[in-house]
Amino acid sequence: MSTDSGIPDFRGPNGVWTRNPGTEKLFDIDHYLADPEVRRRSWSARRQNPAWEAEPNAAHAALVDLERHGHLRALVTQNIDRLHQKAGSSPDLVLELHGNMVESICVGCGTRGLTSDALERLDAGEEDPACLGCGGILKTATVMFGQSLDPGVLAAAAEAARHCDVFLAVGTSLMVHPAAGLCDVAVRHGAQLLIVNAQETPYDPLASLVVREPIGVSLPRLVDELVAS
Ligand SMILES: [Zn+2]
Repeated sequence: MSTDSGIPDFRGPNGVWTRNPGTEKLFDIDHYLADPEVRRRSWSARRQNPAWEAEPNAAHAALVDLERHGHLRALVTQNIDRLHQKAGSSPDLVLELHGNMVESICVGCGTRGLTSDALERLDAGEEDPACLGCGGILKTATVMFGQSLDPGVLAAAAEAARHCDVFLAVGTSLMVHPAAGLCDVAVRHGAQLLIVNAQETPYDPLASLVVREPIGVSLPRLVDELVAS
C-alpha cells in the first residue's frame, strides 16, 4: 500500500527483510530490551525512516473514496505509517494491527508520547532516549516481534470480517497470522474475497478475484467498480 509513497515493504522482492536479513533483529522486543546497541540502531533507523516525509498515494485515496461512498466498514492495516489517516480515512475506521510509529510508549510505565519528541532528543545528542517520567526504555507504539497484537484491535478486525460483504486484501503476502486468518473469517461468513497483490498468496484459491497489477493503478479502478455496483 505504501510502496508507491516511497516506503519499502518488508517481505516483497525488494523488501527490507528480503535484502537485509539481519535487520529483523531491530524489530525483536527481546533484543531491543536487552541490548542498548540494538536500541541505538533502532532509533537511528527511525530517524531515517522515509515515512516521516511520505505522502499518501492513489491507493490510499481510493479507500478514502470508498469510505465517502459509505462502503467502508473498517480499514485493517499492518502499516505503521499513518498514511491512511493522512489521506483522510476516518481514524475511527482504521484498525492498526501493528500499532503506529507516530506515538512512542514507555515499556516501564506505559506513558505515551510523540515519537517526534524522542527524535528531537536524538538530534540533540541522545542515542537511546529514556522515558522522562520513570527512566524506562522508550519505543515506538508499534508491535514488535515477540509482542502480542492488541486484543481489542484484533477483535474489532475479526468483527468487521464477520460482517462484511466484500473483504479486500490489498498488498499483503497473507502469510502472517493472525492477520491473514481474517480472510478465512470473512469467507466463512459469506463475504467475497478480493485480493490485490503482486505475488501469489496462499489465499488466492479462496478468492473470487485476484488482481496482480500494481496497487496504485488497480485499487482505484476496483473501488470505482465496487462503488458503481
Ligand atoms: Zn516510563
